[in-house]
Amino acid sequence: MNEETKKHPISPMLSNITQQQVTILDQENTDGDGWDFYCNGQVTNAIVFEDEISAIVREVVYDYKVKIKVNEYEVSCSCSCDSDKVVCNHVVAVLYSWVYDQAEFTNVGDYINQLNKMDKKTLIDVMQRLLTDDPQNVKYFERHGDEIDEEFSNIEFDSLGFE
Ligand SMILES: [Zn+2]
Repeated sequence: MNEETKKHPISPMLSNITQQQVTILDQENTDGDGWDFYCNGQVTNAIVFEDEISAIVREVVYDYKVKIKVNEYEVSCSCSCDSDKVVCNHVVAVLYSWVYDQAEFTNVGDYINQLNKMDKKTLIDVMQRLLTDDPQNVKYFERHGDEIDEEFSNIEFDSLGFE
């Protein structure tokens, strides 16, 4: 880890989530479906930034966007599937991915560090590519970077190892 990456450390709360906790969460909420999604390689585009992880979970027709974030006291999650369940199979699949393949998550902090060092011309070039690659990104200019209205619900882990 170089000096720059230390500026955006991954929250210990995230690192502390255990395989066992995710397995129990799976059994209690998705009856193994989350595990199947994970094993079938349906979790893609996994990223981590400080106290938040997010990923896309692919299903046959739709892609679902999952976010999981932690604060001092709790873990909360959101998923674009709008399931009635607090914890859906997509969230569980992403948590499996996190506890088993953490090293494969893209650390956004590394890119923030790169952005910090870029001159304006290079920065504009990056933004241009972001906007032309996915025009939906225009929303970040129109909404002043507000988060889109996402509902987060708390995850009740059986035993949180957080002091
Ligand atoms: Zn979902």
